[in-house]
Amino acid sequence: MIKFLDLGALHRGLARELDVAIGRVIEDSSFVCGEAVSEFCQSFADFLGAKYCVGVGNGTDALEIIIEAMDFPPSSEIIVPANTFVATAEAVVRCGHRPVFCDCNQENFTVDVKDLENRISERTVAIVPVHLYGHPCDMDSVMVAAKSHGLKVIEDCAQAHGARYRGRSVGTFGDAGAFSFYPGKNLGALGDGGAIISNSEELARKCSMLSNHGRVAKYEHEFVGRNSRLDSIQAAVLSVKLLYLEEWNARRCQVASRYEEGLDRGAVVLPSTAGWAKHVWHLYVVQTDNRDELKSFLHEQGIETGIHYPIALTRLQAFKSLGQAEEELNAHQMEKRLLSLPMGPHLTDDMVQSVIDAVNSYSRAAQ
Ligand SMILES: *Cc1c(COP(=O)(O)O)cnc(C)c1O
Repeated sequence: MIKFLDLGALHRGLARELDVAIGRVIEDSSFVCGEAVSEFCQSFADFLGAKYCVGVGNGTDALEIIIEAMDFPPSSEIIVPANTFVATAEAVVRCGHRPVFCDCNQENFTVDVKDLENRISERTVAIVPVHLYGHPCDMDSVMVAAKSHGLKVIEDCAQAHGARYRGRSVGTFGDAGAFSFYPGKNLGALGDGGAIISNSEELARKCSMLSNHGRVAKYEHEFVGRNSRLDSIQAAVLSVKLLYLEEWNARRCQVASRYEEGLDRGAVVLPSTAGWAKHVWHLYVVQTDNRDELKSFLHEQGIETGIHYPIALTRLQAFKSLGQAEEELNAHQMEKRLLSLPMGPHLTDDMVQSVIDAVNSYSRAAQ
């Protein structure tokens, strides 16, 4: 059996370090806003080359808090990609704004910048580029489009811890970056967690206050905020795991290279990486005509796969009323074609080879 993701295997090797880190927080008993949180936030900001990092409850809250902090007029338009996890658009709606969906490109699945530009209207206030599957968006083009229209840029980095665009970490290009530490992400906690990064002191401060009851000091609240904080136990765990992130990302890249070398192009289209990208391969997504058939074939061989995502956001019940479900988009064609192969540092060379052999035998039979 080849797992899509194997967190058990990943954590088994770290059991002792995690025990020590968690034990320290228990000893300390500062479970909320403790030193473990400020330590992790400092390390994570340093790792990314960002000035500020605010720990929050999860990645969705990170997006929501950033948007809230920007104080846009009600019902503003915010552009998000049609193919991403639901949270990207959910955060927009939660803040009282309207998501406008733009297409993704065929090469690396990130935002199609031409289409994005066409979606900019009088009411547009911000863009949320998603570094989907671990591949950075074309940030120069996104920033040019944003600057020429005076738009804010909120980078959704939930799938791209450590990804770089022309040598610089994603999350540091726009006004702020949102990270998720959901267990299955490249850097994951043992539960929910998230972070906001920014180079703006003012924005970081506002986000930090919003996430902590609008608090300036104990029982002094400047405005109405909420409770969404990264807890100390998760922060301690993340500090341990951050030490291994580069190694795990490097292993993901090796797995991707093996797929690239070994997979026949017969029945599947492989993902491509832009020249300026340092991809961190959160997911390895191929495209194929008979996706469901290949998926069940691999399942029979004991190989787990995923689909990211089976329904474009434009077509989700939650967003259908926005009226983009019938548009002609790459994202709509891809829904039925995308298949995510097993990807992660848990995969041995033998496992990767078994996946390659299985996909290739399907390809040959299909021709
Ligand atoms: C996981 C994810 C989120 C949300 O993060 P949570 O921590 O699960 O709230 C947002 N955007 C993208 C692209 C994601 O993959």
